[in-house]
Amino acid sequence: MTAPLLEVRNLRVHFPAGGGWVHRPRGVVRAVDGVSLSLEEGEILALVGESGCGKTTLGRAILGLVAPTSGAILFEGSEVTDLAPAERRGYHRHVQMIFQDPFDSLNPRKTVLQTLAQPLRNHGLVPAREQRAAAAELLDHVGLSPGRAFLDRYPHQFSGGQRQRICIARALAVRPRIIVADEAVSALDISIRAQILKLLRKLQEEFQLSYLFITHDLGVVRSLCDRVAVMYLGRMVEEGATDSIFTLPRHPYTSALLAASPMVDPEAARRRTHIPLAGDVPSAMRPPPGCRFHPRCPIAATICREAEPPLLAFEGGRRSACHFAAEAPSWTLAAVAKREDVA
Ligand code: SF4
Repeated sequence: MTAPLLEVRNLRVHFPAGGGWVHRPRGVVRAVDGVSLSLEEGEILALVGESGCGKTTLGRAILGLVAPTSGAILFEGSEVTDLAPAERRGYHRHVQMIFQDPFDSLNPRKTVLQTLAQPLRNHGLVPAREQRAAAAELLDHVGLSPGRAFLDRYPHQFSGGQRQRICIARALAVRPRIIVADEAVSALDISIRAQILKLLRKLQEEFQLSYLFITHDLGVVRSLCDRVAVMYLGRMVEEGATDSIFTLPRHPYTSALLAASPMVDPEAARRRTHIPLAGDVPSAMRPPPGCRFHPRCPIAATICREAEPPLLAFEGGRRSACHFAAEAPSWTLAAVAKREDVA
C-alpha cells in the first residue's frame, strides 16, 4: 500500500503561556493536542473549526513555521519532523502556503517580478536570464494575463483579488505538491471569492496539486473540498468525505457548525435538523475533562464528563470522537425537539 502524500501522526504543539522573560510560564496552551490526519495525492482536505481550535497552528506546524512538541509529520512516507534545516529545504519546496490577507502577505517595496523571482532563485529552479519569462508565465496561469504587463508593478497597484492571484503565483513558483491555504478567500469580496475558488480548482488539475484548506466557511468546504476534518480545542473530533459529513454529522460539534452556517433559502434553513451551538470555546490551557465539548454539548451524559471519547471508525472512512456517534442522527433529532420545546 502506498503511503499518503502527507501524514500527521499524533501531533502536539504546546506553547508556554504568560510569564514573559522574568517569571515562569503560568501554564501551557495545548493548541494542537494529539492530532492525526492524512492527505492523499490530488485531494482537497478541509480543516474546519471555530477560532482557537488549533487548525492554523496545525497548518503552520506542517509548514515548519512552528516546532511540534511531539508527534510526527511524514511526506511520502518519510519523516520530516526532525530533519536538519538543509534537509528540510526539499520538503519546504513541496509544501507552500497561501495566507488569508493578500494585503499583508506581499512586500510593498517589491515589484511583482521581484516577488516571483525570489523563490525561483532561492531554490535554483530557473536561470536568472529566464526568470522574467517564468514569472510572466506564472501570472498567466493565475489569470493575470498577459503576465508580462504586470511584472513591473507594485502591490498597491492591484485589487485584493489580483493580489491574492499574485500570492497564488508565488506559491506555484516552486512547483509544490501541496498548498496549505489558510482562510485564503475569507478576506475577499463574495464575487471575487468565487473566482479564486474556481482558479484554485483549475490549478489543482493543471499542476496536480493537493490542498489543505483551512477555513471556517462551510459553504467553501461544500463547493471545493473532497474531505473534511473537524477540530475542536486542539483535537480532531470528526473526519470524513464532505458529502457524508454534510448529510449525516456523527459528532454534535459538527452538527452545530452546520447549524451555524448561513443558508440562502429560509425555508431550507427552517427545515434543517442540526443542533444549535451555544457558549464559547473553553481555554486551551485548561481543557475540560472527559469530552472537551461536553460543557457546550446539548446531549452530554455522565460518561462524557468522565471519559474522553476515542476516535471511532465508521463506514466510508468516517471517524468520530463522540460516545454516541453510532446513534446519529437520533440525538440530532432529539436535541432539535428539545430546543423547539424550550422555544
Ligand atoms: Fe457530546 Fe458526549 Fe459526544 Fe462529547 S462525547 S460530543 S459531550 S455526546
